[in-house]
Amino acid sequence: MGRLNKLSLTIAHLYPNSMSTYGDRGNILVLQKRAMWRGINTRIVYSDIGDKFPKADLYFWGGGQDTQQVAVSKDVKGVNSKIIKRLVQNYVPFLLICGGYQLMGDYYQVGDKKISGVGALDVYTKAGSKRMIGNTVIKTKLFSTQDKNQIIIGFENHSGKTYLSNNLQPLGKVIKGYGNNGEDKTEGVLYKNTIGCYQHGPLLPKNPFIADWLLSKALEVKYNKKIPLTELEVDKEITSKARSVLI
Ligand code: GLN
Repeated sequence: MGRLNKLSLTIAHLYPNSMSTYGDRGNILVLQKRAMWRGINTRIVYSDIGDKFPKADLYFWGGGQDTQQVAVSKDVKGVNSKIIKRLVQNYVPFLLICGGYQLMGDYYQVGDKKISGVGALDVYTKAGSKRMIGNTVIKTKLFSTQDKNQIIIGFENHSGKTYLSNNLQPLGKVIKGYGNNGEDKTEGVLYKNTIGCYQHGPLLPKNPFIADWLLSKALEVKYNKKIPLTELEVDKEITSKARSVLI
């Protein structure tokens, strides 16, 4: 059949056993489905503590508890950190949620213990005294080709407060919830093709436009050209249903 049938993507789920809270794995399912519906073959690879770092076109790293983060931090140090930093610099897309986002930064400080991160993102996190939990609404223009505001909805549950260096671009502005730190109204980060954020939910079933953005970036990097994604029937249905609820 057509050209699209030949396209394929390998999606890596990092630390699926050690770090995957609040249904974060649903993000992988959405990436897989939305690719499949367009005739793009997908292969999912998993890599946990002690495994060889996988080669992939798109990476996902979910959230976890502090204790799991300590073990994962030890695992990711050294050779894996170097590989991950290079991938991020080379625009390979990553989606990082909560604990995974924290560990991609420089460090996550809990009391007097510093859990070291990969250092691929110029952010750091400090555990706060308050748990920031609840539904979130985030406003962003970063995924719109027409510079229009889009709304990201999700759920957050973290005590870590993340701070971005001045030159980094947040993912969006907090309309409801706490976001990066509950202080500066920013949520998440977008650096090259890497998204870090506190949006559980899972994020992608609730905000499929971000799944499509990740898929197109992965295809663009892999095939070294822009490959337009076809519109999906399911989105038209959702849009008309959503509209009928609003009317
Ligand atoms: N343990 C981290 C925190 O509480 C991350 C939690 C998570 O990934 N949900 O900030």
